[in-house]
Amino acid sequence: MAFDSSSGVPLLLGGADIAPVHEHNTAGRSPFLFTCDHYGRLLPKSLGDLGLPESELTRHIAWDIGIAGVAASLALQLDAHLVAQRYSRLVIDCNRPPGVASSIPIISEATMIPGNDGLSREQTATRRREIFDPYHRRIDEIIDARQHAGMPTVLVSLHSFTPVYAGIARPWHIGTLYQRDRSLAPRLLKALRAEGDLVVGDNEPYAVSDLTDYTIPVHAEARGLINTGIEIRQDLLADQSGQQQWADRLARILREIETTLRAEAFV
Ligand SMILES: [Zn+2]
Repeated sequence: MAFDSSSGVPLLLGGADIAPVHEHNTAGRSPFLFTCDHYGRLLPKSLGDLGLPESELTRHIAWDIGIAGVAASLALQLDAHLVAQRYSRLVIDCNRPPGVASSIPIISEATMIPGNDGLSREQTATRRREIFDPYHRRIDEIIDARQHAGMPTVLVSLHSFTPVYAGIARPWHIGTLYQRDRSLAPRLLKALRAEGDLVVGDNEPYAVSDLTDYTIPVHAEARGLINTGIEIRQDLLADQSGQQQWADRLARILREIETTLRAEAFV
């Protein structure tokens, strides 16, 4: 295990681990800024397998299955900046306020996470400092830079959800998630419903809240940015062609929405 040379505190990430923040199309000119809190499922080498079998580390409790392919293609098609977190939400959930029970979960759905049980305050702080903070610091920097450059920012937080949670099947193909901003989600809802072949969730399967979310409340709402969350059902993103189809569809819809936002001087 590696230690911080000045404080002597054990480090989470070592030389064999890659950086937590992934960015795509950083020079993108689109008003849309995509975030992806649950993009990856890497584990720092120092945490081993968190005491879990591979079958648990590849399912929805560890990451948002299929969303990485959608996010990368959307960023490319819309010439938009994407910022994403490569490490598993089981290490620390980058869409939870630090300190809440689901931030570093001891149990997720019905799975106990042995590697998260009995963490010291120092170990908890290390996960935040090395995984959570760099990601959110980077989102802050990106939005600051856009504001200084006079570029509008419409924050779209991309997620995917499991088709069955705790034994309950979810009927929605896609959902919009929002709390305080009401400029974007209603437009997106209307456009998705107009597609005619989708079951669309209005704040389903989740609604945004200050207690259960971090990215939208802290980066978008607190700064007064137009925003929405998007959740896509994971069985629809199981392969590359499904991911591409959803990226194509959302790119088309978001282009149309951008036109209406510009016409109404929102961006
Ligand atoms: Zn997610």
